[in-house]
Amino acid sequence: MLIWLVALGLAVGSFLGALTWRLPRGQKITAGRSVCPHCRHKITWYHNIPVFSYLVLQGKCSYCKKKISVRYPLIEIGTALVFMALGWRFGLSLDLVFYLIVASVALAVLVIDFEHQIIPDSLVFVGLAVGLTRFSYAFVLAGFLAATFLLLTNLVTRGRGMGLGDVKLALFLGTVLGPKLTVVWLMISFITGALVGLALIIFGKTSFGKKIAFGPFLVIGFFVTVLVGSV
Ligand SMILES: [Zn+2]
Repeated sequence: MLIWLVALGLAVGSFLGALTWRLPRGQKITAGRSVCPHCRHKITWYHNIPVFSYLVLQGKCSYCKKKISVRYPLIEIGTALVFMALGWRFGLSLDLVFYLIVASVALAVLVIDFEHQIIPDSLVFVGLAVGLTRFSYAFVLAGFLAATFLLLTNLVTRGRGMGLGDVKLALFLGTVLGPKLTVVWLMISFITGALVGLALIIFGKTSFGKKIAFGPFLVIGFFVTVLVGSV
């Protein structure tokens, strides 16, 4: 099953690579075959095999030989790893299917927030819709409380470090996690966010008051919580 999940993860990762490129640029998701961003040459299917093609082409377009961004194989490998971990956590079950879909949406949010510091509403709504397929009042309440908590933090810090996108993201992920795990998840996210933020300041990569996207920490904290937590 793990091999099957790696293959699925690579395929979904390949789709997420294109989705996260197109969505923040206002391009159609279903705009057909991917093209090289430099020469617009269409990428043939045998040059579009996850990770493998990147290695064979040595990270260059087959046509104009300009560099292909390393983001593609990274997203593919990352998605495969997350899928594998979820398979290990849930085994072959309906829960696994649920979390594979949630994880795909969450990974798209992570990449777009990391690269553009925005969280598209469309992704949050899709995620929320998936989360609500397991409707329970306690879980929805957890989502609202998480969102309220982030909204308050947003108001106190006057929007530094945390945006309204993060508030909506918290509604989605809190609804998936439920009341108990939401507390764990927020703690993990805030602690790692603070530590990484501090490390970046110490190493001179950023300064106080400068914005760092918080969404990626929420998503990574979410994955850690799902993998170690028991409901
Ligand atoms: Zn090219």
